Amino acid sequence: MDLDYSSEELAFRDEVRGWLRENLPADLRRKVESYGALSKDELLRWHRILADKGWIAPAWPIEWGGTSWNVVQRYIFEEECGYAAAPPLIPFGLAMCAPVLFKFGTEDQKKRFLPRIYRGDDFWCQGYSEPSSGSDLASLRTAAVRDGDRYVVNGQKTWTTLAHMADWIFCLVRTDSALDMKQEGISFLLIDMKTPGITVRPLRLMDGGHEVNEVFFDDVRVPAANLVFEEGKGWTVAKYLLGYERMNTGRIGASKRELERLKELAAREMKNGKPLLAVGGSGGPTIVTGVLQVMLDVLDFHLGPGVAVDLPRIHEQAAPETVIVEEKMPAQTTSALTQMGYRLRMVPMLGAVGALKTEPGKLKGAADARKGGTASGY
Ligand SMILES: Cc1cc2nc3c(=O)[nH]c(=O)nc-3n(C[C@H](O)[C@H](O)[C@H](O)COP(=O)(O)OP(=O)(O)OC[C@H]3O[C@@H](n4cnc5c(N)ncnc54)[C@H](O)[C@@H]3O)c2cc1C
Repeated sequence: MDLDYSSEELAFRDEVRGWLRENLPADLRRKVESYGALSKDELLRWHRILADKGWIAPAWPIEWGGTSWNVVQRYIFEEECGYAAAPPLIPFGLAMCAPVLFKFGTEDQKKRFLPRIYRGDDFWCQGYSEPSSGSDLASLRTAAVRDGDRYVVNGQKTWTTLAHMADWIFCLVRTDSALDMKQEGISFLLIDMKTPGITVRPLRLMDGGHEVNEVFFDDVRVPAANLVFEEGKGWTVAKYLLGYERMNTGRIGASKRELERLKELAAREMKNGKPLLAVGGSGGPTIVTGVLQVMLDVLDFHLGPGVAVDLPRIHEQAAPETVIVEEKMPAQTTSALTQMGYRLRMVPMLGAVGALKTEPGKLKGAADARKGGTASGY
């Protein structure tokens, strides 16, 4: 498998990189780099810049504004945005509610909600979790009772990220509690956060930040036209959505940027007259092995098997520097390692490292170094 980018992909990466250099506002970039809390206006400012460019929803069908990029281009785009310190795109509308509407929504629902999600007119949040219904989500109790052309909703959601900013919430509600299977009788409702009877209360996190909330529903009347898919079939919708949710957690580009910063700091900060990066340990982990481990964890996402690292020996040496890599290692990995100041020792194949591993405490293969990573057989 060839994991290097093709010349077309590199040209695409350069186009995205150049555009980000020109169009990412410096104040937003600085705020992201310094881990500042972004306001709704700031999040939406970036959203709308991308929407104007036509790059806000690459994965959407082209007739709704998708870019028709292939999966590699989408990956490159996300990586470059993260690396450039662009604000995150809040996924609840773009990458959770929208795919659900494409799959299960009526034409009316698509026309009503999708263009507003695209333009950033509506800010969405996710109403799945409840007190005592987290991992065991299907036990949820927020009730929606049909009353004419409305549902009347009563109950509570919790951990609702950015509910205090949201215009809309997509919610799992129980429309039938008399069924044996708790996954049955759940429905998927779209609820306007301005509807009377909704109260949002902040949940302060350990660092004092306000990101998550409790959301209370007290006789909230929701048009039945806001039901997505069939009544009682919300579990099917919920599972489909979760497939998209799990796609969003990689943060490869942002992790690479943060790793660069870690390297800079470790090279600049001094201990006993030496840069931290050059300080060795006596058997325990050192800054350099820590940095390398993080780098491997990050690169692991798109490199797969093939990196073998002499971590134990690095621990033993005051001036650690050697990394063993397979000869067919993608150029981007070897150059990343070289940039970090490591000498590379090339081996024809990982089997050779496997043999070296038989000297306990001296050399080990990547699978151990990466906690049982993708390489196997050694
Ligand atoms: C920062 C943050 C943001 C969030 N944002 C949202 C959001 O926007 N919308 C939303 O709907 N939800 C949100 N969540 C909720 C999140 O999805 C839940 O935290 C998650 O579903 C787990 O539920 P819980 O916290 O109630 O933990 P619990 O279900 O109580 O689990 C606690 C622990 O017990 C373990 N455990 C549970 N059941 C079992 C079992 N049967 N066997 C073995 N171990 C078990 C779990 O793995 C976990 O370690 C957010 C959570 C956080 C922390």
